[in-house]
Amino acid sequence: SNSTAEIRRLDAAHHLHPFTNTRELNARGARVITQSSGVYLQDSEGNRILDGMSGLWCVNAGHGRRDIIDAVSRQLEELTFYNTFFNTTHPSVAELSGLLSEVTPPQFNYFHYTGSGSESNDTIFRLVRYYWELEGKPEKSIFISRRGGYHGSTVAAASLGGFGSMHKQGGLPIAGIYHAPSPDWWSYGGDMSSDEFGLHVAHQTLSLIDAIGSDRIGAMIGEPIMGAGGVIVPPKTYWPALSAGLKERDILLISDEVICGFGRTGEWFGCELMGTEPDFLTMAKGITSGYIPLGAVGVSDRVAKVLLEKGGEFAHGHTYSGHPAACAAAIATLKILREEKLVDRVRTDIGPYLKQKWKTLADHPIVGEAVIEGLIGAFQFTKDKSSRKGFDEDARIGMIAREHSFKNGLVMRAVGDRMVIAPPFTLTHEEADELVSIAQKVIELTYADAKSNG
Ligand code: PLP
Repeated sequence: SNSTAEIRRLDAAHHLHPFTNTRELNARGARVITQSSGVYLQDSEGNRILDGMSGLWCVNAGHGRRDIIDAVSRQLEELTFYNTFFNTTHPSVAELSGLLSEVTPPQFNYFHYTGSGSESNDTIFRLVRYYWELEGKPEKSIFISRRGGYHGSTVAAASLGGFGSMHKQGGLPIAGIYHAPSPDWWSYGGDMSSDEFGLHVAHQTLSLIDAIGSDRIGAMIGEPIMGAGGVIVPPKTYWPALSAGLKERDILLISDEVICGFGRTGEWFGCELMGTEPDFLTMAKGITSGYIPLGAVGVSDRVAKVLLEKGGEFAHGHTYSGHPAACAAAIATLKILREEKLVDRVRTDIGPYLKQKWKTLADHPIVGEAVIEGLIGAFQFTKDKSSRKGFDEDARIGMIAREHSFKNGLVMRAVGDRMVIAPPFTLTHEEADELVSIAQKVIELTYADAKSNG
Protein backbone atom coordinates (compact mmCIF):
# COMPACT_ATOMS: atom_id res chain seq x y z
CA SER A 1 0.00 0.00 0.00
CA ASN A 2 1.02 3.60 -0.53
CA SER A 3 3.24 5.40 1.96
CA THR A 4 1.84 8.30 3.95
CA ALA A 5 3.93 10.71 1.88
CA GLU A 6 2.53 9.35 -1.38
CA ILE A 7 -1.05 9.48 -0.08
CA ARG A 8 -0.52 13.09 0.95
CA ARG A 9 1.01 13.94 -2.42
CA LEU A 10 -1.91 12.46 -4.39
CA ASP A 11 -4.41 14.04 -2.06
CA ALA A 12 -2.83 17.48 -2.27
CA ALA A 13 -2.52 17.25 -6.05
CA HIS A 14 -6.01 15.99 -6.87
CA HIS A 15 -8.50 16.10 -4.01
CA LEU A 16 -10.68 19.12 -3.35
CA HIS A 17 -11.87 18.57 0.22
CA PRO A 18 -15.23 19.55 1.68
CA PHE A 19 -15.24 22.16 4.48
CA THR A 20 -11.44 22.47 4.41
CA ASN A 21 -9.11 25.38 3.73
CA THR A 22 -7.00 23.75 1.03
CA ARG A 23 -4.02 26.09 1.45
CA GLU A 24 -3.81 25.34 5.17
CA LEU A 25 -4.29 21.64 4.53
CA ASN A 26 -1.48 21.46 2.00
CA ALA A 27 0.87 23.46 4.22
CA ARG A 28 0.61 20.88 7.00
CA GLY A 29 -0.33 17.69 5.12
CA ALA A 30 -3.58 15.82 5.61
CA ARG A 31 -3.99 13.47 8.54
CA VAL A 32 -4.39 10.02 6.98
CA ILE A 33 -6.91 7.76 8.71
CA THR A 34 -6.45 4.15 7.67
CA GLN A 35 -8.36 1.86 10.03
CA SER A 36 -11.16 1.75 12.56
CA SER A 37 -12.50 -0.67 15.12
CA GLY A 38 -14.97 -0.18 17.98
CA VAL A 39 -14.60 3.42 19.16
CA TYR A 40 -11.04 3.78 17.86
CA LEU A 41 -9.42 5.02 14.66
CA GLN A 42 -5.88 4.45 13.54
CA ASP A 43 -3.83 6.82 11.40
CA SER A 44 -1.14 5.97 8.88
CA GLU A 45 1.55 6.55 11.49
CA GLY A 46 0.04 3.93 13.77
CA ASN A 47 -1.50 6.33 16.29
CA ARG A 48 -4.67 5.16 18.02
CA ILE A 49 -7.34 7.86 18.32
CA LEU A 50 -10.62 7.67 20.23
CA ASP A 51 -13.35 8.64 17.76
CA GLY A 52 -15.24 11.10 19.92
CA MET A 53 -17.33 12.21 16.91
CA SER A 54 -18.50 8.80 15.60
CA GLY A 55 -16.94 9.73 12.27
CA LEU A 56 -19.25 12.63 11.51
CA TRP A 57 -22.00 11.98 14.08
CA CYS A 58 -22.90 8.72 12.37
CA VAL A 59 -21.04 5.57 13.45
CA ASN A 60 -23.41 5.08 16.38
CA ALA A 61 -23.06 1.29 16.63
CA GLY A 62 -19.25 1.54 16.56
CA HIS A 63 -16.73 0.75 13.83
CA GLY A 64 -16.20 -2.60 12.13
CA ARG A 65 -19.39 -4.40 13.21
CA ARG A 66 -19.42 -7.83 11.57
CA ASP A 67 -23.24 -7.99 11.42
CA ILE A 68 -23.54 -4.84 9.36
CA ILE A 69 -20.62 -5.70 7.09
CA ASP A 70 -21.99 -9.19 6.43
CA ALA A 71 -25.52 -7.91 5.80
CA VAL A 72 -24.20 -5.48 3.19
CA SER A 73 -22.05 -8.05 1.47
CA ARG A 74 -24.87 -10.64 1.43
CA GLN A 75 -27.18 -8.04 -0.09
CA LEU A 76 -24.68 -7.10 -2.80
CA GLU A 77 -24.38 -10.75 -3.80
CA GLU A 78 -28.10 -11.38 -3.79
CA LEU A 79 -29.34 -8.19 -5.45
CA THR A 80 -26.59 -5.73 -6.25
CA PHE A 81 -28.78 -2.88 -7.33
CA TYR A 82 -32.24 -2.15 -8.42
CA ASN A 83 -34.22 1.06 -8.28
CA THR A 84 -37.51 1.79 -6.55
CA PHE A 85 -39.02 3.85 -9.39
CA PHE A 86 -41.83 2.84 -11.77
CA ASN A 87 -43.77 0.36 -9.65
CA THR A 88 -40.82 -1.74 -8.47
CA THR A 89 -39.54 -2.55 -5.01
CA HIS A 90 -37.18 -5.04 -3.34
CA PRO A 91 -37.25 -6.97 -0.06
CA SER A 92 -34.80 -4.81 1.90
CA VAL A 93 -36.47 -1.48 1.24
CA ALA A 94 -39.85 -2.94 2.20
CA GLU A 95 -38.43 -4.50 5.39
CA LEU A 96 -36.67 -1.28 6.36
CA SER A 97 -39.87 0.74 5.85
CA GLY A 98 -41.71 -1.59 8.19
CA LEU A 99 -38.96 -1.31 10.80
CA LEU A 100 -38.91 2.48 10.57
CA SER A 101 -42.66 2.61 11.17
CA GLU A 102 -42.00 0.69 14.40
CA VAL A 103 -39.13 2.78 15.77
CA THR A 104 -40.32 6.27 14.78
CA PRO A 105 -43.09 8.09 16.71
CA PRO A 106 -46.57 6.63 16.07
CA GLN A 107 -47.72 9.22 13.50
CA PHE A 108 -44.99 8.07 11.06
CA ASN A 109 -45.86 5.18 8.77
CA TYR A 110 -44.52 6.23 5.37
CA PHE A 111 -40.92 6.73 4.33
CA HIS A 112 -39.21 8.13 1.25
CA TYR A 113 -35.50 7.42 0.66
CA THR A 114 -32.57 9.57 -0.39
CA GLY A 115 -28.80 9.31 -0.33
CA SER A 116 -28.01 11.84 2.42
CA GLY A 117 -29.32 14.32 4.94
CA SER A 118 -28.97 17.15 2.44
CA GLU A 119 -31.09 15.31 -0.10
CA SER A 120 -33.66 14.55 2.59
CA ASN A 121 -33.97 18.26 3.38
CA ASP A 122 -34.06 19.22 -0.31
CA THR A 123 -36.82 16.65 -0.73
CA ILE A 124 -38.76 18.21 2.15
CA PHE A 125 -38.57 21.58 0.45
CA ARG A 126 -40.51 20.22 -2.52
CA LEU A 127 -42.70 17.82 -0.54
CA VAL A 128 -44.08 20.48 1.82
CA ARG A 129 -44.97 22.73 -1.10
CA TYR A 130 -46.52 19.82 -2.99
CA TYR A 131 -48.61 18.97 0.09
CA TRP A 132 -49.99 22.51 0.36
CA GLU A 133 -50.66 22.59 -3.41
CA LEU A 134 -52.73 19.43 -3.00
CA GLU A 135 -54.53 21.06 -0.07
CA GLY A 136 -55.43 24.01 -2.32
CA LYS A 137 -53.16 26.40 -0.42
CA PRO A 138 -50.15 26.90 -2.71
CA GLU A 139 -49.53 30.27 -1.08
CA LYS A 140 -48.25 28.44 2.01
CA SER A 141 -44.83 28.20 0.37
CA ILE A 142 -42.56 29.93 2.90
CA PHE A 143 -40.22 28.09 5.27
CA ILE A 144 -39.03 29.16 8.69
CA SER A 145 -35.65 27.90 9.82
CA ARG A 146 -33.07 29.20 12.25
CA ARG A 147 -29.78 31.04 12.44
CA GLY A 148 -27.15 28.54 13.48
CA GLY A 149 -29.16 25.57 12.20
CA TYR A 150 -27.49 23.13 9.82
CA HIS A 151 -29.45 21.15 7.25
CA GLY A 152 -26.85 20.22 4.63
CA SER A 153 -25.00 21.57 1.61
CA THR A 154 -27.34 21.25 -1.37
CA VAL A 155 -29.05 24.40 -2.57
CA ALA A 156 -32.27 24.18 -0.56
CA ALA A 157 -30.61 22.56 2.47
CA ALA A 158 -27.85 25.17 2.66
CA SER A 159 -30.48 27.88 2.28
CA LEU A 160 -32.57 26.43 5.08
CA GLY A 161 -29.42 26.31 7.19
CA GLY A 162 -28.44 29.42 9.05
CA PHE A 163 -24.71 29.62 8.38
CA GLY A 164 -23.53 33.01 7.07
CA SER A 165 -20.32 31.39 5.81
CA MET A 166 -22.38 29.17 3.49
CA HIS A 167 -24.83 31.85 2.41
CA LYS A 168 -22.14 34.24 1.28
CA GLN A 169 -20.83 31.71 -1.26
CA GLY A 170 -22.98 31.15 -4.33
CA GLY A 171 -25.79 33.59 -3.65
CA LEU A 172 -27.78 31.82 -0.95
CA PRO A 173 -30.30 31.61 0.58
CA ILE A 174 -32.83 31.04 -2.18
CA ALA A 175 -36.12 32.94 -1.86
CA GLY A 176 -38.90 31.91 0.48
CA ILE A 177 -36.92 31.19 3.66
CA TYR A 178 -36.85 33.25 6.85
CA HIS A 179 -34.30 32.58 9.59
CA ALA A 180 -35.55 32.89 13.16
CA PRO A 181 -33.23 33.46 16.14
CA SER A 182 -31.23 30.63 17.70
CA PRO A 183 -32.17 29.34 21.16
CA ASP A 184 -28.49 29.52 22.17
CA TRP A 185 -28.71 30.62 25.79
CA TRP A 186 -24.95 30.82 26.39
CA SER A 187 -24.43 33.26 23.51
CA TYR A 188 -27.64 35.30 23.57
CA GLY A 189 -29.37 34.64 26.90
CA GLY A 190 -27.90 37.68 28.69
CA ASP A 191 -29.49 38.12 32.11
CA MET A 192 -32.43 35.81 31.39
CA SER A 193 -32.74 32.40 33.02
CA SER A 194 -32.59 29.52 30.59
CA ASP A 195 -36.36 28.97 30.88
CA GLU A 196 -37.15 32.65 30.33
CA PHE A 197 -34.86 32.76 27.34
CA GLY A 198 -36.48 29.66 25.78
CA LEU A 199 -39.92 31.31 25.95
CA HIS A 200 -38.48 34.59 24.71
CA VAL A 201 -37.02 33.00 21.56
CA ALA A 202 -40.19 30.94 20.94
CA HIS A 203 -42.23 34.16 21.10
CA GLN A 204 -39.78 36.03 18.88
CA THR A 205 -40.16 33.26 16.32
CA LEU A 206 -43.95 33.31 16.48
CA SER A 207 -43.88 37.13 16.12
CA LEU A 208 -41.75 36.77 13.01
CA ILE A 209 -44.28 34.26 11.69
CA ASP A 210 -47.20 36.58 12.43
CA ALA A 211 -45.44 39.48 10.75
CA ILE A 212 -44.96 37.42 7.58
CA GLY A 213 -48.48 35.95 7.84
CA SER A 214 -49.01 32.32 8.84
CA ASP A 215 -51.29 31.80 5.81
CA ARG A 216 -48.14 32.14 3.68
CA ILE A 217 -45.97 29.76 5.75
CA GLY A 218 -45.90 26.05 5.01
CA ALA A 219 -43.47 24.67 7.54
CA MET A 220 -40.75 25.28 10.08
CA ILE A 221 -37.61 23.13 10.16
CA GLY A 222 -35.34 22.66 13.15
CA GLU A 223 -32.93 20.21 14.74
CA PRO A 224 -34.11 19.16 18.22
CA ILE A 225 -30.56 19.92 19.37
CA MET A 226 -28.48 21.95 16.91
CA GLY A 227 -25.47 19.80 16.09
CA ALA A 228 -23.08 21.42 13.63
CA GLY A 229 -24.01 24.78 15.16
CA GLY A 230 -22.15 23.68 18.29
CA VAL A 231 -24.45 21.26 20.15
CA ILE A 232 -26.92 23.90 21.24
CA VAL A 233 -29.30 22.21 23.68
CA PRO A 234 -32.33 24.52 23.73
CA PRO A 235 -33.95 25.60 27.01
CA LYS A 236 -36.68 23.14 28.08
CA THR A 237 -39.36 25.76 27.50
CA TYR A 238 -38.47 26.46 23.88
CA TRP A 239 -39.83 23.57 21.80
CA PRO A 240 -43.10 23.08 23.69
CA ALA A 241 -44.04 26.77 23.36
CA LEU A 242 -42.90 27.00 19.78
CA SER A 243 -44.51 23.78 18.56
CA ALA A 244 -47.84 24.69 20.20
CA GLY A 245 -47.72 28.05 18.42
CA LEU A 246 -47.02 26.37 15.08
CA LYS A 247 -49.97 23.98 15.55
CA GLU A 248 -52.32 26.89 16.29
CA ARG A 249 -51.20 28.53 13.05
CA ASP A 250 -51.41 25.34 10.95
CA ILE A 251 -47.71 25.39 10.14
CA LEU A 252 -46.10 21.98 9.70
CA LEU A 253 -43.06 21.04 11.76
CA ILE A 254 -40.06 19.26 10.26
CA SER A 255 -37.77 17.66 12.82
CA ASP A 256 -34.30 17.34 11.30
CA GLU A 257 -33.21 14.12 12.97
CA VAL A 258 -30.08 13.60 10.88
CA ILE A 259 -27.93 13.79 14.02
CA CYS A 260 -30.46 13.34 16.85
CA GLY A 261 -32.30 10.40 15.28
CA PHE A 262 -31.70 6.76 16.17
CA GLY A 263 -30.77 7.20 19.79
CA ARG A 264 -28.16 9.93 19.94
CA THR A 265 -30.01 11.85 22.68
CA GLY A 266 -31.07 8.73 24.61
CA GLU A 267 -34.52 8.70 22.96
CA TRP A 268 -35.09 7.10 19.59
CA PHE A 269 -35.74 10.54 18.11
CA GLY A 270 -34.80 13.99 19.38
CA CYS A 271 -38.39 15.22 18.94
CA GLU A 272 -39.43 12.74 21.64
CA LEU A 273 -36.95 14.27 24.09
CA MET A 274 -38.14 17.78 23.19
CA GLY A 275 -41.82 16.92 23.39
CA THR A 276 -42.83 17.92 19.86
CA GLU A 277 -45.08 16.07 17.41
CA PRO A 278 -43.60 16.79 14.00
CA ASP A 279 -45.21 16.22 10.60
CA PHE A 280 -41.95 15.23 8.95
CA LEU A 281 -38.69 13.62 10.05
CA THR A 282 -35.54 13.98 8.01
CA MET A 283 -32.97 11.28 8.65
CA ALA A 284 -29.53 10.05 7.50
CA LYS A 285 -26.21 9.30 9.26
CA GLY A 286 -27.12 6.98 12.17
CA ILE A 287 -29.79 5.20 10.11
CA THR A 288 -26.99 2.97 8.76
CA SER A 289 -24.47 3.81 11.46
CA GLY A 290 -22.63 5.50 8.59
CA TYR A 291 -21.55 2.22 6.94
CA ILE A 292 -23.31 3.03 3.66
CA PRO A 293 -24.87 6.39 2.69
CA LEU A 294 -28.65 6.55 3.18
CA GLY A 295 -31.16 9.26 3.92
CA ALA A 296 -34.88 9.08 4.59
CA VAL A 297 -37.90 11.32 5.00
CA GLY A 298 -40.65 10.25 7.39
CA VAL A 299 -44.12 11.50 6.46
CA SER A 300 -46.87 11.73 9.09
CA ASP A 301 -50.27 10.11 8.58
CA ARG A 302 -51.89 13.54 8.16
CA VAL A 303 -49.60 14.36 5.23
CA ALA A 304 -49.53 10.83 3.81
CA LYS A 305 -53.33 10.74 3.65
CA VAL A 306 -53.36 13.81 1.41
CA LEU A 307 -50.52 12.53 -0.76
CA LEU A 308 -52.23 9.16 -1.20
CA GLU A 309 -55.81 10.40 -1.63
CA LYS A 310 -55.35 13.65 -3.54
CA GLY A 311 -51.91 13.25 -5.07
CA GLY A 312 -50.71 11.31 -8.06
CA GLU A 313 -47.05 10.81 -8.81
CA PHE A 314 -44.56 12.89 -6.80
CA ALA A 315 -42.15 13.70 -9.62
CA HIS A 316 -39.07 13.34 -7.47
CA GLY A 317 -36.53 10.64 -6.62
CA HIS A 318 -32.93 9.57 -6.76
CA THR A 319 -31.20 6.67 -8.46
CA TYR A 320 -30.14 5.53 -5.00
CA SER A 321 -33.54 6.01 -3.30
CA GLY A 322 -33.65 2.82 -1.24
CA HIS A 323 -30.36 1.38 -2.49
CA PRO A 324 -30.41 -2.31 -1.47
CA ALA A 325 -26.98 -2.29 0.20
CA ALA A 326 -27.85 0.85 2.17
CA CYS A 327 -31.17 -0.64 3.27
CA ALA A 328 -29.37 -3.82 4.37
CA ALA A 329 -26.97 -1.71 6.44
CA ALA A 330 -29.92 0.13 8.00
CA ILE A 331 -31.79 -3.08 8.86
CA ALA A 332 -28.65 -4.53 10.48
CA THR A 333 -28.09 -1.28 12.40
CA LEU A 334 -31.66 -1.20 13.71
CA LYS A 335 -31.33 -4.83 14.81
CA ILE A 336 -28.16 -4.00 16.74
CA LEU A 337 -29.75 -0.94 18.36
CA ARG A 338 -32.71 -3.06 19.46
CA GLU A 339 -30.97 -6.29 20.43
CA GLU A 340 -28.20 -4.58 22.37
CA LYS A 341 -30.69 -2.02 23.77
CA LEU A 342 -28.23 0.70 22.81
CA VAL A 343 -30.74 3.54 23.00
CA ASP A 344 -31.58 2.57 26.59
CA ARG A 345 -27.87 2.27 27.25
CA VAL A 346 -27.35 5.87 26.08
CA ARG A 347 -30.22 7.12 28.26
CA THR A 348 -29.65 5.16 31.44
CA ASP A 349 -26.04 3.98 31.52
CA ILE A 350 -23.25 5.47 29.44
CA GLY A 351 -25.00 8.83 28.91
CA PRO A 352 -25.41 9.59 32.64
CA TYR A 353 -21.96 8.12 33.40
CA LEU A 354 -20.28 10.42 30.88
CA LYS A 355 -22.42 13.39 31.89
CA GLN A 356 -21.35 13.35 35.51
CA LYS A 357 -17.69 13.54 34.40
CA TRP A 358 -18.19 15.85 31.41
CA LYS A 359 -19.96 18.46 33.59
CA THR A 360 -16.78 18.84 35.70
CA LEU A 361 -14.96 20.30 32.69
CA ALA A 362 -16.82 23.54 33.44
CA ASP A 363 -14.86 23.84 36.73
CA HIS A 364 -11.90 25.11 34.71
CA PRO A 365 -11.46 28.92 34.49
CA ILE A 366 -11.58 28.99 30.66
CA VAL A 367 -14.60 26.68 30.30
CA GLY A 368 -17.94 28.48 30.51
CA GLU A 369 -20.37 25.62 30.24
CA ALA A 370 -20.24 21.89 29.58
CA VAL A 371 -23.49 20.36 28.33
CA ILE A 372 -24.48 16.87 27.28
CA GLU A 373 -27.73 15.05 26.42
CA GLY A 374 -27.41 11.32 25.90
CA LEU A 375 -24.16 11.10 23.94
CA ILE A 376 -24.09 14.52 22.29
CA GLY A 377 -22.17 17.17 24.18
CA ALA A 378 -20.09 20.31 24.08
CA PHE A 379 -18.02 22.65 26.18
CA GLN A 380 -17.50 26.34 25.60
CA PHE A 381 -14.21 28.19 25.97
CA THR A 382 -14.52 31.65 27.46
CA LYS A 383 -12.13 34.40 28.48
CA ASP A 384 -14.37 35.32 31.41
CA LYS A 385 -17.15 33.14 32.77
CA SER A 386 -19.25 35.81 34.45
CA SER A 387 -19.49 38.09 31.40
CA ARG A 388 -19.34 35.06 29.01
CA LYS A 389 -16.76 37.01 27.03
CA GLY A 390 -15.25 35.08 24.14
CA PHE A 391 -11.65 34.93 22.96
CA ASP A 392 -10.65 37.02 19.93
CA GLU A 393 -11.50 35.17 16.76
CA ASP A 394 -7.88 35.54 15.62
CA ALA A 395 -6.75 33.51 18.63
CA ARG A 396 -8.48 30.47 17.06
CA ILE A 397 -8.80 28.79 20.44
CA GLY A 398 -11.11 26.08 19.08
CA MET A 399 -8.66 25.16 16.32
CA ILE A 400 -5.78 25.02 18.79
CA ALA A 401 -7.80 22.75 21.07
CA ARG A 402 -8.81 20.52 18.15
CA GLU A 403 -5.14 19.98 17.28
CA HIS A 404 -4.18 19.26 20.91
CA SER A 405 -7.03 16.79 21.08
CA PHE A 406 -6.01 14.89 17.97
CA LYS A 407 -2.36 14.77 19.06
CA ASN A 408 -3.43 13.35 22.42
CA GLY A 409 -5.59 10.65 20.90
CA LEU A 410 -9.13 12.03 20.82
CA VAL A 411 -11.27 13.40 17.99
CA MET A 412 -13.26 16.42 19.15
CA ARG A 413 -14.72 18.87 16.67
CA ALA A 414 -14.37 22.64 17.07
CA VAL A 415 -17.29 24.95 16.28
CA GLY A 416 -15.78 28.37 16.85
CA ASP A 417 -14.61 28.15 20.47
CA ARG A 418 -17.00 25.35 21.33
CA MET A 419 -15.68 21.77 21.42
CA VAL A 420 -18.21 19.08 20.58
CA ILE A 421 -18.41 15.31 21.01
CA ALA A 422 -20.77 12.56 19.86
CA PRO A 423 -19.10 9.20 20.60
CA PRO A 424 -20.42 5.76 19.56
CA PHE A 425 -23.14 4.24 21.76
CA THR A 426 -20.87 1.28 22.53
CA LEU A 427 -18.45 3.50 24.47
CA THR A 428 -17.45 1.68 27.67
CA HIS A 429 -17.00 3.34 31.05
CA GLU A 430 -13.22 3.01 30.71
CA GLU A 431 -13.35 4.63 27.27
CA ALA A 432 -15.53 7.42 28.68
CA ASP A 433 -12.91 7.98 31.40
CA GLU A 434 -10.23 8.18 28.72
CA LEU A 435 -12.31 10.64 26.69
CA VAL A 436 -12.77 12.97 29.66
CA SER A 437 -9.17 12.76 30.81
CA ILE A 438 -7.92 13.70 27.33
CA ALA A 439 -10.46 16.56 27.21
CA GLN A 440 -9.06 17.80 30.56
CA LYS A 441 -5.55 17.68 29.20
CA VAL A 442 -6.66 19.55 26.07
CA ILE A 443 -8.17 22.27 28.22
CA GLU A 444 -4.92 22.63 30.22
CA LEU A 445 -2.78 22.77 27.09
CA THR A 446 -5.11 25.28 25.44
CA TYR A 447 -5.13 27.38 28.65
CA ALA A 448 -1.32 27.46 28.63
CA ASP A 449 -1.31 28.56 24.97
CA ALA A 450 -3.94 31.23 25.61
CA LYS A 451 -1.88 32.62 28.51
CA SER A 452 1.37 32.68 26.58
CA ASN A 453 -0.33 34.44 23.66
CA GLY A 454 -1.88 36.99 26.02
N1 PLP B 1 -29.05 17.87 8.84
C1 PLP B 1 -28.27 17.84 9.92
C2 PLP B 1 -28.86 18.15 11.25
C3 PLP B 1 -26.92 17.54 9.80
O1 PLP B 1 -26.13 17.54 10.88
C4 PLP B 1 -26.40 17.22 8.53
C5 PLP B 1 -24.96 16.86 8.36
O2 PLP B 1 -24.16 17.05 9.23
C6 PLP B 1 -27.26 17.28 7.43
C7 PLP B 1 -28.57 17.58 7.63
C8 PLP B 1 -26.76 16.98 6.06
O3 PLP B 1 -26.54 15.65 5.93
P1 PLP B 1 -25.52 15.10 4.80
O4 PLP B 1 -24.16 15.60 5.19
O5 PLP B 1 -25.69 13.62 4.88
O6 PLP B 1 -25.98 15.64 3.49
